[in-house]
Amino acid sequence: MSWWFKAVLWQRVLIALILGVITGLAFRSFGGTYLVDGITKYAGADFVTTWIKPFGTAFVQLIKMLVVPLVFTTLVTGITAMGHPSKLGTIGMRAFGLYVFTTLVAVSIGLLFGTIFKPGSGVDFTDVAPNVMAAEAPSMTERLINIIPANPVQALASGDMLAIIFFAILLGIAILMVGKAADPVKDFFDSSVQIMFKITHWVMELAPYGVFALITWVTAAKGVETFSSVLMLALALYLGCITHMLLMYGGLVRFVLGLPLIRFFRGILDAQVVAYSTSTSAGTLPVTIACVQDNLGIKPVVAGSVLPLGATINMDGTSLYLGLLALFAANAFGLDLSWADYGLIAMTATLASIGTASIPSASLFMLAIVLPTIGVSPEQIALMVGFILPFDRPLDMMRTMTNVTGDAAVATSVAKWEGELDEKVFREVAKV
Ligand code: ASP
Repeated sequence: MSWWFKAVLWQRVLIALILGVITGLAFRSFGGTYLVDGITKYAGADFVTTWIKPFGTAFVQLIKMLVVPLVFTTLVTGITAMGHPSKLGTIGMRAFGLYVFTTLVAVSIGLLFGTIFKPGSGVDFTDVAPNVMAAEAPSMTERLINIIPANPVQALASGDMLAIIFFAILLGIAILMVGKAADPVKDFFDSSVQIMFKITHWVMELAPYGVFALITWVTAAKGVETFSSVLMLALALYLGCITHMLLMYGGLVRFVLGLPLIRFFRGILDAQVVAYSTSTSAGTLPVTIACVQDNLGIKPVVAGSVLPLGATINMDGTSLYLGLLALFAANAFGLDLSWADYGLIAMTATLASIGTASIPSASLFMLAIVLPTIGVSPEQIALMVGFILPFDRPLDMMRTMTNVTGDAAVATSVAKWEGELDEKVFREVAKV
């Protein structure tokens, strides 16, 4: 068993993922079935839900526990480490510009793959009850105003990420402006970050067990046949996300930044697998921050500021998915789309992905923003959400992984351009 503890973390996590799929399938196949209201239930899946899934849930809770304190402290120290508030401007502009650009590319890939794979054609919506209502999205003005926390403590308590980012930035700038008199507070945040990272590394050591439990549960409960109901959608999404990761992020890292691609993907593999198994990019944030700092050599100034913003607003997998779902709806409801419609989908999907919460299946509810632009009614949206939701988990896993990879790619670019990348660490073999 000593080889297990000697293996580097990403290898253990990958082994756990594969074992999870095998174990999940075994429970599903050999546990027997029973009928409830004409629906086949799997006894093995029930067992897994009761006895194995809780370990996965506990792991998710542990990383979620770290999100608010880690983001808050890394963001404040990230800004104080900049030395001057003007640096925040250039980092912010570069990150934001790249976030929007990569998201637009992602939705275009979604539309392209949607045109090729035609998801939704042949889907019969007539016997699907609209059992889930699409959530009412708050207005743009409301969302912008809510970025200012009326009560920062409450924002921290409720994990309201944009509000936390806003307050942390102000606090960081104020510490810089106050200068010497603010040193004790600066030191306090500096040591808090180190302490939070200590806990993060402990929690990451548990990743293989958490991932195993979560993947066993997903496979036992959903099986691989889940894919067949939305086969074309799943195929288009998986291929689209892989294409986006290889071409967009790969191109950025390899050709624009001139860095070795394999190191990049290896360096963030832990974060990718955790994102894949938990389906929440905000939840994965502590692991992403630890990965890019430890394995890619991105300095805290960039990691601490660019990644929390990315986890909140940069969701390329999600925008790609929204593009695909718009074409799914057009096929299923028999709508003819013009070029202008494609443009509208790209624009609204980009905006919607910025506003999507980084939690499981959040993007489905953003259809309420995208689909009305091509003439889909609220009832039809509800019908679609109700239809896709039961199959959404394996799709969510892939887009969350893409979202997290995008955050890391943008952080790498900004770090390189700002001179905040330790290339020796990035290129080092031993670490990863
Ligand atoms: N689960 C995704 C995330 O956390 C959001 C979504 O696409 O539903 O990044």
